[in-house]
Amino acid sequence: MKSGYRLGIDLGGTLVKLALVGPAGRVVSLKEVETVLNPRDLISRLKRAAEPWRLKGLRGTGVGVAGDVDPVKGAVRFAPNLKWKNVPIRSLLRKAGFPAPVHVENDATAAAWGAYHGELKKRTENLIVLTLGTGVGGGLVLDRRLYRGSTGTAGELGHITVDPGGPLCGCGNRGCLEAYLGGIHLVRWAKAEMLRRKRKAPADLTPFSLFQAARRGDPAARALWNRAGWALGIGLASLINIFNPDTILLTGGVAGAHPLFLPAARREIAKRAFLTPRRAVFLRVFPQSKNLGVIGAALLIP
Ligand SMILES: [Zn+2]
Repeated sequence: MKSGYRLGIDLGGTLVKLALVGPAGRVVSLKEVETVLNPRDLISRLKRAAEPWRLKGLRGTGVGVAGDVDPVKGAVRFAPNLKWKNVPIRSLLRKAGFPAPVHVENDATAAAWGAYHGELKKRTENLIVLTLGTGVGGGLVLDRRLYRGSTGTAGELGHITVDPGGPLCGCGNRGCLEAYLGGIHLVRWAKAEMLRRKRKAPADLTPFSLFQAARRGDPAARALWNRAGWALGIGLASLINIFNPDTILLTGGVAGAHPLFLPAARREIAKRAFLTPRRAVFLRVFPQSKNLGVIGAALLIP
């Protein structure tokens, strides 16, 4: 007989999280393993880390990967952070003895599923999740079901065009939401702005130090967060008009700076979203929810 326990894996560019997840989506045990780019080497590392959990009786393995994922084939089509192209991650994990079934999903989509079950306790019908970190990811739960689209790639909310002539995004397009709000881009913009003002940029600039600088009243840092909020508001207004969600959840490290960017975002939403869906939506921020991805991945296993 199989237990109610599942294995969750959240595969990021620098760290992989593994979790033994209990029946109610509770993390029983959590481990972190440094990412190595060779898939086989990575899987044997994960196997060593997960071994003490007695994998045999588990219900299955859910994997979230940052990138373009084919959930039907259980393969990663393209993961730029991992430098992976067409990696059949499901069959590799199966061969290595990870508990079946193995389900593979985009990491932000998995995080949306984790938020739906965990933080929000299914008290939402139509949920949009944005993960604000180095980049901006997104996931959609519509009519209480995960929305994957036709090829499993739905929910790339970080790449909504906010301004066609805007800054260059990592995806090659210009003016994506991510190019304003992604951690990498915030730091890049801050450095450019300091250069313009003939100030020396500190080497260890991070979104958090930019948050602190804005808190101290630094005008350049404040302008940066305002602009990020402006871009977010434009993106969210479109999402509100298209999907009519009851909840929008912002999560991830950069979401911690919400006091600095949400006012501008709310102003744009008020300007651009239609009244009825705007009144119906509840905008929530959970910056501390670090394990949504790994929990959501595990809960993808029925
Ligand atoms: Zn983009």
